[in-house]
Amino acid sequence: MHDLAQAIFESYPSLAFEDPSPTDHDGHRPFSPLLQSSESIDTTNIFFREYQPLSVIIPWMRLLRSLFPTHVRMINVGISYEGRDIPALRVGVHPTNSDKPQGPRKTIVITGGSHAREWISTSSVNYIAYSFITAYGKSKEMTTLLEKFDWVFIPTLNPDGYVYTWENDRLWRKNRQQTSLRFCKGVDLDHSYDFAWDRESSSANNPCSESFAGEGPFQGVEARRFANWARNETQNNNVSIVAFVDFHSYSQQILYPYSYTCAKTPPTLENLEELAIGLAKAIRLTDGGEAYGVTAACEGSVIDTSTSKGAKQAGLRATMESGGGSALDWFYHELSVKYAYQIKLRDTGSYGFLLPSKNIVPTGKEAFAAMKYMGHFLLGNNGIETEKGEEEKVVGSKEEEKGQLKKSPDETDQVEDGLDADDDEDGEWEMDFELRRRTER
Ligand SMILES: [Zn+2]
Repeated sequence: MHDLAQAIFESYPSLAFEDPSPTDHDGHRPFSPLLQSSESIDTTNIFFREYQPLSVIIPWMRLLRSLFPTHVRMINVGISYEGRDIPALRVGVHPTNSDKPQGPRKTIVITGGSHAREWISTSSVNYIAYSFITAYGKSKEMTTLLEKFDWVFIPTLNPDGYVYTWENDRLWRKNRQQTSLRFCKGVDLDHSYDFAWDRESSSANNPCSESFAGEGPFQGVEARRFANWARNETQNNNVSIVAFVDFHSYSQQILYPYSYTCAKTPPTLENLEELAIGLAKAIRLTDGGEAYGVTAACEGSVIDTSTSKGAKQAGLRATMESGGGSALDWFYHELSVKYAYQIKLRDTGSYGFLLPSKNIVPTGKEAFAAMKYMGHFLLGNNGIETEKGEEEKVVGSKEEEKGQLKKSPDETDQVEDGLDADDDEDGEWEMDFELRRRTER
């Protein structure tokens, strides 16, 4: 590990410290440079240039909802211990003629920020959401994914903890609720779920431990409320959750159930492994070419210690992340979500939780590629390749038709697989167009 204080300092955006160095925005709120257009997301979208505090993420989510009302809704999956919303973007387009009785809406739930300090998980969920939202109507491929599924993006499952990492302790992990010990706040949300909840291990039983599981299952407020929301969706709102992906960091691993034990084999092991390997491949085929391991969550820590540069440290962290009461196991077993994963993003230990912000976009692209692959897989397409060569055309709403009118033929021709930067440019462009349209009113 590098100098710890310096690494922590550098992981905050320069804005947070009122860095006097010149910036390319004129005192606007950090999301306002979205208005800039004509260059790729990498170079102009300041939202993804730095990690963002909750006070910026929430208005940014509202902005997306306002700009893309045809396919984006903002919802709230619960209230945190300290009373904050746990916000989410629900992205998808129901097919026309929705009067017809239909089966449950297939829904994919994607979460980040369960552990407060894992900022790259929050930024990546936002990046995936943004990529899906702005790609809608740009290619048949992406449009289909949003017609066939609802995608629920929850970037900060632990908003109190996230705020705390910004204002007090960059390396805080748990939520912020009171425990039986006055000076040791916080429950580890990923040990809180009511499946194979475990108080046996000493760390899980100690309120001062970073992996404190609480005094009983679902004592962790945000875990309980999120789980209640998910269960209610499936029982009362005609929703079928077909996949659940919980992003964490770090160690570059795609983990499938179970996390609580290696002694039990999940009944759909082959399916879980098959898709997991595909996700890893989709990530490797992005520009970054990063290798992500694939294994059962219960084994994650073993592999981690043998491959990581910061082996000792990573091993300790990873050990804390495995165990009972995980969201991964709960969704898989209790909600019968067939495809459930925990994905640990970059890196493999050099920076760990203090991953520099220049990784936000490349890691986001990896995560987006994986989620897009997953969508195809769930549609029954065996990988991305099957979509190649299909005619791309814009489908749908008035919003998209307006956008299309302004497009040059060149742009239209370029629209295809979202693995490259073209979709991002289009997204910037469309957002710019939408904003101008609205402000001109
Ligand atoms: Zn984590």
